[in-house]
Amino acid sequence: MRPNRTWMLQRKDQSGMISGEFRDGVDDFIRIATRDLTIPNVTGHIPCPCTRCRNRYWETSFNVEKHLYHHAFVDDYVNWTLHGEKKWEDNSSTPVIQDSIDERVHTGGSISFGQHLKKMAFIF
Ligand SMILES: [Zn+2]
Repeated sequence: MRPNRTWMLQRKDQSGMISGEFRDGVDDFIRIATRDLTIPNVTGHIPCPCTRCRNRYWETSFNVEKHLYHHAFVDDYVNWTLHGEKKWEDNSSTPVIQDSIDERVHTGGSISFGQHLKKMAFIF
């Protein structure tokens, strides 16, 4: 099952403040990223998934938290595979073409393209 990550798109509440859901979500994210001791490097830095760093730059969890509040998560990083989370098997965020081929084999020809669109819509 995929965890609900809709909070990633709800960074601010109506008054323009960081929403409670987003704060809780970022807390969870930091917990997951630092729980797996193979993720932080020797200086305790983890890849920062904010829109500026895009997982290319590493920061302390404290700074990552700040970045996420200020810059939000980079758009398509819903499944936190770089932060110790297992790749979700039940989604099609990965190449849709490959996915369709698998599905064609399993269902004998009927590809539910509408379903793909729905999944895509959730991600983006
Ligand atoms: Zn960052």
